[in-house]
Parts: sequence; C-alpha cells; structure tokens
Amino acid sequence: MSHNDCIFCKIAKGEIPSATIFENADFKVILDVAPATKGHALIIPKEHFKDIFELDSDTAAKLFTLAAAVARELKAELKCDGLNVLQNNGEVAGQTVFHFHMHLIPRYNDDGLNITLGSKESDPEELQKLAERIRKRI
Ligand code: AMP
Ligand code: ZN
Repeated sequence: MSHNDCIFCKIAKGEIPSATIFENADFKVILDVAPATKGHALIIPKEHFKDIFELDSDTAAKLFTLAAAVARELKAELKCDGLNVLQNNGEVAGQTVFHFHMHLIPRYNDDGLNITLGSKESDPEELQKLAERIRKRI
C-alpha cells in the first residue's frame, strides 16, 4: 500500500530524489538529508507501515539482516568509531515522518552528538512483576 502524501513512499518510488545507497524489492536505504553525523542513513521499507506496531513480520525479519550489512559497509567506508541504531515510533518518541524507518548513525570519537539515555531507579520486585505481565503476552 502506498500513501500519496507520504514523503518516504515518494522516495521509495523514486518520485522524490534521494541519495540512495542501496535498493532492493523491499527496501530503499538513503542518506538522511539532515544528518546527525556524516553517513547518517535511513532504511526505509518500500511498503507503507506507519511504525513498528504496524510492521509486518516478513519485513521485520529482513530488516535487521540488512541493517547489519549496511552498518558494516558504513563502518568500512567512513571509518567511524561506532554506530547507533535508532528507530522512533510515535510523536512522543521523536518520530516526525510517519512511515517506518530505521536510523543508522555512524559515530565518531569527536562528533559531539549526545543521544545518551537517562536512567531511573528500579525496584527488583516491581521489575519481576512487570516482566511477568509482559511475558504472558509474548
Ligand atoms: P524521525 O524523527 O525518526 O521520524 O526521522 C525522520 C528523518 O527523516 C529525519 O532525520 C529527517 O532529517 C529525515 N528526512 C526527512 N525528509 C527527508 C528527505 N526528503 N530525504 C532524506 N531524509 C529525510
Ligand atoms: Zn509511506
């Protein structure tokens, strides 16, 4: 399914130009137009899924195989020191384009980028209870 007003659907179909680094039947991998660091890439399924909650399992299964391959080639080409995989779902999580995509963000020792997670205290008993609640569903 394709969404007429979706920018990543248009990119997937080649209707909007992009700096494409890989393409197959299922995915297009492009460089982010406003990169967090040099080589910041986006893996975009050609089919329109809004977010991870809508992603079909076949696409999900293929996604990380591709992500690992692209990550290795980014590292080889750019000589980055590390790489973050980031994937935002929902406005509250920072999603701005509502067509599923995965960020691959090469990291360099001196890049000054800060995407460190905060951390809260936890109670071991609460963690166990919560784990059980979720485990029942999976
Ligand atoms: P997110 O905040 O996870 O939804 O990320 C959306 C990303 O898409 C941002 O990093 C944007 O810079 C990027 N982006 C938006 N429009 C384009 C475009 N036309 N070509 C390449 N990247 C884009
Ligand atoms: Zn779309």
